[in-house]
Amino acid sequence: MRYSKFIDEEKKEVVFLVDGVIEVRIAKNIYEKYYAKQNDEEIISLCPYKNIYNAITKRRLYFISERSRVPLIGHTAFGIIDRGTNLLQVRPSTGCNLNCIFCSVDEGKSKTRVTDYMVDADYIANKFEEIADFKRKHHKNIAIEAHIDGQGEPFLYPYIEKLLRKLRDSADIVSIQTNGTLLTKEKVKKFQAYIDRINLSINALNEKTATLLAGCHYNLQHVLDIAEEIASSNIDLLLAPVWVPGYNDDEIEKIVRFGRSIGAGKKWKAFGIQKYIRYKFGKKPQGAKAMDFKTFYKKLAEIGNDLKLYPKDFGIVKCKAIPKKFKLGEKIKLRIEMYGRMKNEMIAIARDRIIQIIDTNRKLGDYVNVRIIRNKHNIYVAEEA
Ligand code: SF4
Repeated sequence: MRYSKFIDEEKKEVVFLVDGVIEVRIAKNIYEKYYAKQNDEEIISLCPYKNIYNAITKRRLYFISERSRVPLIGHTAFGIIDRGTNLLQVRPSTGCNLNCIFCSVDEGKSKTRVTDYMVDADYIANKFEEIADFKRKHHKNIAIEAHIDGQGEPFLYPYIEKLLRKLRDSADIVSIQTNGTLLTKEKVKKFQAYIDRINLSINALNEKTATLLAGCHYNLQHVLDIAEEIASSNIDLLLAPVWVPGYNDDEIEKIVRFGRSIGAGKKWKAFGIQKYIRYKFGKKPQGAKAMDFKTFYKKLAEIGNDLKLYPKDFGIVKCKAIPKKFKLGEKIKLRIEMYGRMKNEMIAIARDRIIQIIDTNRKLGDYVNVRIIRNKHNIYVAEEA
Protein backbone atom coordinates (compact mmCIF):
# COMPACT_ATOMS: atom_id res chain seq x y z
CA MET A 1 0.00 0.00 0.00
CA ARG A 2 1.38 3.44 -1.00
CA TYR A 3 -0.05 6.36 0.92
CA SER A 4 0.53 9.94 1.97
CA LYS A 5 -1.11 11.78 4.86
CA PHE A 6 -2.23 15.39 5.15
CA ILE A 7 -4.67 17.58 7.05
CA ASP A 8 -7.64 19.17 5.29
CA GLU A 9 -7.97 22.26 7.51
CA GLU A 10 -11.13 23.43 5.79
CA LYS A 11 -13.04 20.21 6.47
CA LYS A 12 -11.13 19.51 9.71
CA GLU A 13 -10.20 16.01 8.56
CA VAL A 14 -7.08 13.87 8.47
CA VAL A 15 -6.70 12.53 4.94
CA PHE A 16 -4.79 9.46 3.74
CA LEU A 17 -4.33 9.31 -0.03
CA VAL A 18 -3.95 5.59 -0.76
CA ASP A 19 -2.50 4.27 -4.05
CA GLY A 20 -3.10 7.65 -5.69
CA VAL A 21 -6.89 7.30 -6.01
CA ILE A 22 -8.46 6.24 -2.71
CA GLU A 23 -9.01 9.01 -0.18
CA VAL A 24 -9.58 7.87 3.42
CA ARG A 25 -10.87 10.70 5.63
CA ILE A 26 -11.25 10.77 9.42
CA ALA A 27 -12.52 13.72 11.48
CA LYS A 28 -9.50 15.48 13.00
CA ASN A 29 -10.89 15.45 16.56
CA ILE A 30 -11.57 11.69 16.41
CA TYR A 31 -8.15 11.03 14.96
CA GLU A 32 -6.41 13.10 17.66
CA LYS A 33 -8.44 11.54 20.47
CA TYR A 34 -8.21 7.85 19.51
CA TYR A 35 -5.82 7.23 16.64
CA ALA A 36 -2.89 9.66 16.74
CA LYS A 37 -0.55 7.06 18.22
CA GLN A 38 -1.74 4.14 16.08
CA ASN A 39 -0.11 2.68 13.03
CA ASP A 40 -1.31 4.46 9.83
CA GLU A 41 -1.95 1.26 7.88
CA GLU A 42 -4.13 -0.09 10.68
CA ILE A 43 -6.11 3.14 10.76
CA ILE A 44 -6.62 3.04 6.97
CA SER A 45 -7.83 -0.56 7.06
CA LEU A 46 -9.69 -0.82 10.33
CA CYS A 47 -10.89 2.57 11.60
CA PRO A 48 -14.71 2.40 11.77
CA TYR A 49 -15.06 6.20 11.64
CA LYS A 50 -13.43 6.60 8.24
CA ASN A 51 -15.15 7.84 5.09
CA ILE A 52 -13.76 6.74 1.75
CA TYR A 53 -13.82 8.82 -1.46
CA ASN A 54 -12.50 8.61 -4.98
CA ALA A 55 -9.76 11.28 -5.04
CA ILE A 56 -10.34 11.98 -8.75
CA THR A 57 -14.14 12.27 -8.84
CA LYS A 58 -14.61 13.22 -5.13
CA ARG A 59 -17.54 10.82 -4.91
CA ARG A 60 -18.10 8.36 -2.07
CA LEU A 61 -16.26 5.12 -2.81
CA TYR A 62 -16.88 1.53 -1.82
CA PHE A 63 -13.84 -0.73 -1.83
CA ILE A 64 -15.15 -4.25 -2.43
CA SER A 65 -13.07 -7.21 -1.34
CA GLU A 66 -13.99 -10.86 -0.85
CA ARG A 67 -14.36 -10.18 2.88
CA SER A 68 -17.02 -7.53 2.18
CA ARG A 69 -19.30 -10.35 0.87
CA VAL A 70 -20.56 -8.07 -1.88
CA PRO A 71 -21.21 -10.25 -4.96
CA LEU A 72 -19.64 -9.31 -8.30
CA ILE A 73 -22.61 -10.21 -10.49
CA GLY A 74 -25.71 -8.09 -10.92
CA HIS A 75 -24.58 -4.49 -11.48
CA THR A 76 -23.39 -2.68 -14.59
CA ALA A 77 -20.99 -0.40 -12.71
CA PHE A 78 -18.65 -3.00 -11.20
CA GLY A 79 -17.90 -6.70 -11.19
CA ILE A 80 -18.36 -9.02 -14.14
CA ILE A 81 -20.98 -8.96 -16.88
CA ASP A 82 -21.78 -12.19 -18.73
CA ARG A 83 -23.95 -11.52 -21.78
CA GLY A 84 -24.03 -15.18 -22.74
CA THR A 85 -20.96 -15.16 -24.98
CA ASN A 86 -17.28 -16.08 -24.66
CA LEU A 87 -16.47 -12.44 -23.81
CA LEU A 88 -16.77 -11.42 -20.17
CA GLN A 89 -16.74 -7.74 -19.29
CA VAL A 90 -14.51 -7.11 -16.29
CA ARG A 91 -15.27 -3.86 -14.45
CA PRO A 92 -12.84 -3.21 -11.61
CA SER A 93 -13.72 0.43 -10.90
CA THR A 94 -15.78 3.47 -11.81
CA GLY A 95 -14.60 7.06 -12.26
CA CYS A 96 -12.92 8.90 -15.11
CA ASN A 97 -10.27 11.60 -15.50
CA LEU A 98 -12.01 13.02 -18.57
CA ASN A 99 -15.40 14.66 -18.84
CA CYS A 100 -16.51 13.84 -22.39
CA ILE A 101 -19.52 15.89 -23.37
CA PHE A 102 -21.22 12.81 -24.88
CA CYS A 103 -20.33 10.32 -22.11
CA SER A 104 -23.03 7.65 -21.99
CA VAL A 105 -22.44 7.05 -18.27
CA ASP A 106 -22.13 10.75 -17.34
CA GLU A 107 -18.58 10.32 -16.02
CA GLY A 108 -16.19 13.09 -15.05
CA LYS A 109 -18.11 16.02 -13.60
CA SER A 110 -21.34 14.17 -13.13
CA LYS A 111 -24.83 15.40 -12.38
CA THR A 112 -26.23 11.90 -11.92
CA ARG A 113 -23.53 9.59 -10.50
CA VAL A 114 -23.05 9.88 -6.75
CA THR A 115 -21.11 6.73 -5.81
CA ASP A 116 -17.98 5.00 -7.11
CA TYR A 117 -16.95 1.37 -6.61
CA MET A 118 -13.58 -0.35 -6.68
CA VAL A 119 -13.07 -4.11 -6.52
CA ASP A 120 -10.05 -5.89 -5.09
CA ALA A 121 -7.92 -7.36 -7.92
CA ASP A 122 -7.74 -10.90 -6.46
CA TYR A 123 -11.48 -10.96 -5.86
CA ILE A 124 -12.48 -9.94 -9.39
CA ALA A 125 -9.79 -12.06 -11.07
CA ASN A 126 -10.89 -15.16 -9.12
CA LYS A 127 -14.53 -14.54 -10.05
CA PHE A 128 -13.51 -14.19 -13.70
CA GLU A 129 -11.69 -17.53 -13.51
CA GLU A 130 -14.69 -19.20 -11.91
CA ILE A 131 -17.04 -18.01 -14.70
CA ALA A 132 -14.51 -18.82 -17.44
CA ASP A 133 -14.19 -22.36 -16.05
CA PHE A 134 -17.99 -22.66 -16.02
CA LYS A 135 -18.09 -21.77 -19.72
CA ARG A 136 -15.20 -24.06 -20.61
CA LYS A 137 -17.01 -26.95 -18.93
CA HIS A 138 -19.96 -26.44 -21.28
CA HIS A 139 -18.03 -25.64 -24.47
CA LYS A 140 -14.85 -27.50 -25.32
CA ASN A 141 -11.99 -25.51 -26.85
CA ILE A 142 -13.73 -22.18 -26.41
CA ALA A 143 -11.50 -19.07 -26.20
CA ILE A 144 -12.59 -16.86 -23.30
CA GLU A 145 -11.91 -13.14 -23.55
CA ALA A 146 -11.53 -10.86 -20.53
CA HIS A 147 -12.53 -7.39 -21.70
CA ILE A 148 -11.78 -4.71 -19.12
CA ASP A 149 -14.12 -1.81 -19.61
CA GLY A 150 -16.60 0.02 -17.47
CA GLN A 151 -18.11 3.23 -16.35
CA GLY A 152 -14.85 5.14 -16.33
CA GLU A 153 -11.17 4.86 -17.24
CA PRO A 154 -9.67 1.45 -16.33
CA PHE A 155 -6.10 2.77 -16.05
CA LEU A 156 -7.20 4.88 -13.07
CA TYR A 157 -7.64 1.57 -11.23
CA PRO A 158 -4.51 1.48 -9.07
CA TYR A 159 -4.18 -2.33 -9.20
CA ILE A 160 -4.51 -2.63 -12.97
CA GLU A 161 -1.14 -4.34 -13.44
CA LYS A 162 -1.94 -7.00 -10.88
CA LEU A 163 -5.37 -7.55 -12.44
CA LEU A 164 -3.91 -7.83 -15.95
CA ARG A 165 -1.29 -10.30 -14.74
CA LYS A 166 -3.92 -12.49 -13.12
CA LEU A 167 -6.29 -12.33 -16.10
CA ARG A 168 -3.41 -13.27 -18.41
CA ASP A 169 -3.21 -16.57 -16.52
CA SER A 170 -6.89 -17.46 -16.86
CA ALA A 171 -8.15 -15.77 -20.05
CA ASP A 172 -7.31 -16.72 -23.63
CA ILE A 173 -7.61 -13.09 -24.77
CA VAL A 174 -7.18 -9.97 -22.63
CA SER A 175 -8.45 -6.68 -24.03
CA ILE A 176 -9.00 -3.28 -22.46
CA GLN A 177 -10.77 -0.07 -23.31
CA THR A 178 -9.07 3.25 -22.51
CA ASN A 179 -8.95 6.95 -23.30
CA GLY A 180 -5.15 6.59 -23.39
CA THR A 181 -4.36 9.71 -21.38
CA LEU A 182 -2.81 7.81 -18.46
CA LEU A 183 -0.70 5.46 -20.57
CA THR A 184 2.97 6.10 -21.19
CA LYS A 185 5.32 4.51 -23.72
CA GLU A 186 6.95 2.59 -20.84
CA LYS A 187 3.59 1.24 -19.66
CA VAL A 188 2.68 0.12 -23.18
CA LYS A 189 6.00 -1.78 -23.38
CA LYS A 190 5.39 -3.36 -19.98
CA PHE A 191 1.75 -4.27 -20.64
CA GLN A 192 2.65 -6.12 -23.86
CA ALA A 193 3.13 -9.14 -21.64
CA TYR A 194 -0.51 -9.09 -20.54
CA ILE A 195 -2.73 -7.36 -23.11
CA ASP A 196 -3.75 -8.64 -26.56
CA ARG A 197 -5.82 -5.64 -27.70
CA ILE A 198 -6.36 -2.03 -26.64
CA ASN A 199 -9.54 -0.25 -27.72
CA LEU A 200 -8.42 3.37 -27.70
CA SER A 201 -10.87 6.23 -27.87
CA ILE A 202 -9.69 9.09 -30.06
CA ASN A 203 -12.58 11.31 -31.12
CA ALA A 204 -10.85 13.93 -33.27
CA LEU A 205 -7.44 14.74 -34.73
CA ASN A 206 -8.13 18.45 -34.51
CA GLU A 207 -6.86 19.72 -31.14
CA LYS A 208 -9.75 22.13 -30.57
CA THR A 209 -12.44 19.56 -31.40
CA ALA A 210 -10.73 16.82 -29.36
CA THR A 211 -10.57 19.12 -26.32
CA LEU A 212 -14.16 20.25 -26.78
CA LEU A 213 -15.31 16.61 -26.87
CA ALA A 214 -13.15 15.62 -23.88
CA GLY A 215 -14.81 18.39 -21.84
CA CYS A 216 -11.57 19.25 -20.01
CA HIS A 217 -7.85 19.76 -20.54
CA TYR A 218 -6.77 17.11 -23.07
CA ASN A 219 -3.35 16.36 -24.52
CA LEU A 220 -4.18 15.07 -27.99
CA GLN A 221 -0.54 14.73 -29.07
CA HIS A 222 0.15 12.45 -26.10
CA VAL A 223 -2.75 10.16 -27.03
CA LEU A 224 -1.62 10.07 -30.68
CA ASP A 225 1.90 9.13 -29.58
CA ILE A 226 0.45 6.38 -27.40
CA ALA A 227 -1.59 5.11 -30.35
CA GLU A 228 1.60 4.82 -32.42
CA GLU A 229 3.41 3.11 -29.57
CA ILE A 230 0.62 0.54 -29.20
CA ALA A 231 0.46 -0.07 -32.95
CA SER A 232 4.18 -0.80 -33.04
CA SER A 233 4.04 -3.10 -30.00
CA ASN A 234 2.72 -6.66 -29.72
CA ILE A 235 -0.63 -5.27 -28.60
CA ASP A 236 -3.29 -4.94 -31.28
CA LEU A 237 -4.75 -1.44 -31.61
CA LEU A 238 -8.39 -0.67 -32.27
CA LEU A 239 -9.35 2.99 -32.58
CA ALA A 240 -12.81 3.62 -31.15
CA PRO A 241 -14.09 7.14 -31.77
CA VAL A 242 -17.64 8.14 -30.92
CA TRP A 243 -19.22 9.93 -33.89
CA VAL A 244 -21.08 12.89 -32.42
CA PRO A 245 -23.11 14.59 -35.21
CA GLY A 246 -22.39 18.29 -35.49
CA TYR A 247 -19.09 17.95 -33.62
CA ASN A 248 -16.65 15.53 -35.25
CA ASP A 249 -18.26 14.71 -38.64
CA ASP A 250 -15.10 15.74 -40.48
CA GLU A 251 -12.79 13.93 -38.09
CA ILE A 252 -13.85 10.31 -38.52
CA GLU A 253 -12.29 9.89 -41.96
CA LYS A 254 -9.09 11.52 -40.68
CA ILE A 255 -8.99 9.09 -37.74
CA VAL A 256 -9.40 6.16 -40.14
CA ARG A 257 -6.52 7.45 -42.32
CA PHE A 258 -4.37 7.94 -39.22
CA GLY A 259 -5.16 4.42 -37.94
CA ARG A 260 -4.32 2.84 -41.29
CA SER A 261 -1.07 4.82 -41.51
CA ILE A 262 0.22 3.62 -38.12
CA GLY A 263 -0.83 -0.02 -38.61
CA ALA A 264 -3.82 -0.35 -36.30
CA GLY A 265 -5.70 -3.65 -36.40
CA LYS A 266 -3.05 -6.25 -37.20
CA LYS A 267 -5.04 -9.13 -35.75
CA TRP A 268 -8.58 -7.80 -35.27
CA LYS A 269 -10.43 -4.93 -36.91
CA ALA A 270 -8.66 -1.58 -36.74
CA PHE A 271 -11.72 0.58 -36.01
CA GLY A 272 -14.74 0.40 -33.76
CA ILE A 273 -16.56 3.61 -34.66
CA GLN A 274 -19.45 4.13 -32.29
CA LYS A 275 -22.66 5.94 -32.94
CA TYR A 276 -23.53 8.63 -30.41
CA ILE A 277 -26.65 7.54 -28.54
CA ARG A 278 -28.69 9.91 -26.40
CA TYR A 279 -29.00 8.05 -23.10
CA LYS A 280 -31.47 9.16 -20.44
CA PHE A 281 -28.74 9.46 -17.81
CA GLY A 282 -25.84 10.20 -20.16
CA LYS A 283 -24.33 13.55 -21.16
CA LYS A 284 -26.06 15.31 -24.04
CA PRO A 285 -23.94 17.63 -26.18
CA GLN A 286 -25.82 20.73 -27.19
CA GLY A 287 -27.37 20.44 -30.64
CA ALA A 288 -26.14 16.88 -31.33
CA LYS A 289 -28.82 14.80 -32.97
CA ALA A 290 -28.23 11.06 -32.83
CA MET A 291 -28.10 9.41 -36.27
CA ASP A 292 -30.34 6.44 -36.95
CA PHE A 293 -28.46 3.18 -37.59
CA LYS A 294 -29.28 3.16 -41.33
CA THR A 295 -27.72 6.60 -41.84
CA PHE A 296 -24.78 5.71 -39.60
CA TYR A 297 -23.90 2.54 -41.54
CA LYS A 298 -24.38 4.34 -44.86
CA LYS A 299 -21.96 7.07 -43.77
CA LEU A 300 -19.47 4.49 -42.50
CA ALA A 301 -19.60 2.67 -45.84
CA GLU A 302 -18.75 5.96 -47.61
CA ILE A 303 -15.53 6.11 -45.56
CA GLY A 304 -14.51 2.45 -45.78
CA ASN A 305 -16.05 -0.92 -46.54
CA ASP A 306 -14.53 -2.57 -43.46
CA LEU A 307 -15.95 -0.26 -40.79
CA LYS A 308 -19.17 -2.04 -39.89
CA LEU A 309 -18.43 -4.54 -37.14
CA TYR A 310 -19.84 -7.99 -36.46
CA PRO A 311 -19.33 -10.23 -33.40
CA LYS A 312 -17.40 -12.69 -35.60
CA ASP A 313 -14.77 -10.00 -36.27
CA PHE A 314 -13.71 -10.48 -32.66
CA GLY A 315 -14.36 -14.20 -32.42
CA ILE A 316 -17.39 -13.61 -30.20
CA VAL A 317 -19.70 -16.60 -30.09
CA LYS A 318 -22.74 -17.43 -27.98
CA CYS A 319 -22.14 -19.74 -25.06
CA LYS A 320 -23.87 -20.81 -21.88
CA ALA A 321 -24.45 -17.98 -19.41
CA ILE A 322 -24.17 -18.37 -15.66
CA PRO A 323 -27.57 -19.09 -14.09
CA LYS A 324 -30.01 -16.31 -13.32
CA LYS A 325 -31.13 -16.10 -9.70
CA PHE A 326 -34.33 -14.06 -9.99
CA LYS A 327 -37.28 -14.21 -12.34
CA LEU A 328 -38.76 -11.14 -13.97
CA GLY A 329 -41.69 -9.93 -11.87
CA GLU A 330 -40.55 -11.91 -8.83
CA LYS A 331 -41.37 -10.26 -5.50
CA ILE A 332 -38.85 -10.42 -2.69
CA LYS A 333 -38.03 -8.69 0.59
CA LEU A 334 -34.52 -7.25 0.64
CA ARG A 335 -32.27 -5.40 3.07
CA ILE A 336 -30.61 -2.29 1.70
CA GLU A 337 -26.84 -2.69 2.03
CA MET A 338 -25.13 0.04 -0.02
CA TYR A 339 -25.67 3.36 -1.72
CA GLY A 340 -26.47 3.07 -5.43
CA ARG A 341 -24.53 4.55 -8.31
CA MET A 342 -27.13 7.26 -8.84
CA LYS A 343 -29.35 9.44 -6.68
CA ASN A 344 -32.48 7.61 -5.45
CA GLU A 345 -30.86 4.24 -6.08
CA MET A 346 -29.79 1.76 -3.42
CA ILE A 347 -28.19 -1.66 -3.56
CA ALA A 348 -29.35 -4.89 -1.97
CA ILE A 349 -27.70 -8.30 -1.94
CA ALA A 350 -29.36 -11.71 -2.19
CA ARG A 351 -28.61 -15.16 -3.68
CA ASP A 352 -25.05 -14.10 -4.54
CA ARG A 353 -26.29 -11.27 -6.74
CA ILE A 354 -26.45 -7.47 -6.55
CA ILE A 355 -29.87 -5.89 -7.02
CA GLN A 356 -30.24 -2.19 -7.81
CA ILE A 357 -33.37 -0.72 -6.31
CA ILE A 358 -34.38 2.34 -8.27
CA ASP A 359 -36.60 5.32 -7.43
CA THR A 360 -36.32 4.78 -3.70
CA ASN A 361 -35.70 7.01 -0.72
CA ARG A 362 -35.05 4.11 1.67
CA LYS A 363 -32.01 4.18 3.95
CA LEU A 364 -29.15 1.76 4.59
CA GLY A 365 -30.39 -1.12 6.74
CA ASP A 366 -34.06 -0.71 5.76
CA TYR A 367 -36.00 -3.78 4.65
CA VAL A 368 -38.05 -3.27 1.53
CA ASN A 369 -40.47 -5.31 -0.58
CA VAL A 370 -39.46 -5.10 -4.23
CA ARG A 371 -40.37 -6.51 -7.64
CA ILE A 372 -37.65 -7.50 -10.12
CA ILE A 373 -38.12 -5.46 -13.32
CA ARG A 374 -34.89 -6.43 -15.13
CA ASN A 375 -32.90 -9.65 -15.09
CA LYS A 376 -31.34 -9.64 -18.57
CA HIS A 377 -27.71 -10.82 -18.51
CA ASN A 378 -27.92 -11.33 -14.75
CA ILE A 379 -28.18 -7.57 -14.21
CA TYR A 380 -30.91 -7.00 -11.66
CA VAL A 381 -33.05 -3.91 -11.27
CA ALA A 382 -35.98 -3.77 -8.88
CA GLU A 383 -38.58 -1.26 -7.82
CA GLU A 384 -40.57 -1.08 -4.62
CA ALA A 385 -43.61 -3.35 -4.80
S1 SF4 B 1 -13.27 8.69 -21.45
FE1 SF4 B 1 -15.09 7.37 -21.59
S2 SF4 B 1 -15.80 7.15 -19.47
FE2 SF4 B 1 -14.40 8.87 -19.52
S3 SF4 B 1 -15.74 10.65 -19.74
FE3 SF4 B 1 -15.01 10.02 -21.80
S4 SF4 B 1 -16.62 8.67 -22.58
FE4 SF4 B 1 -16.93 8.85 -20.36
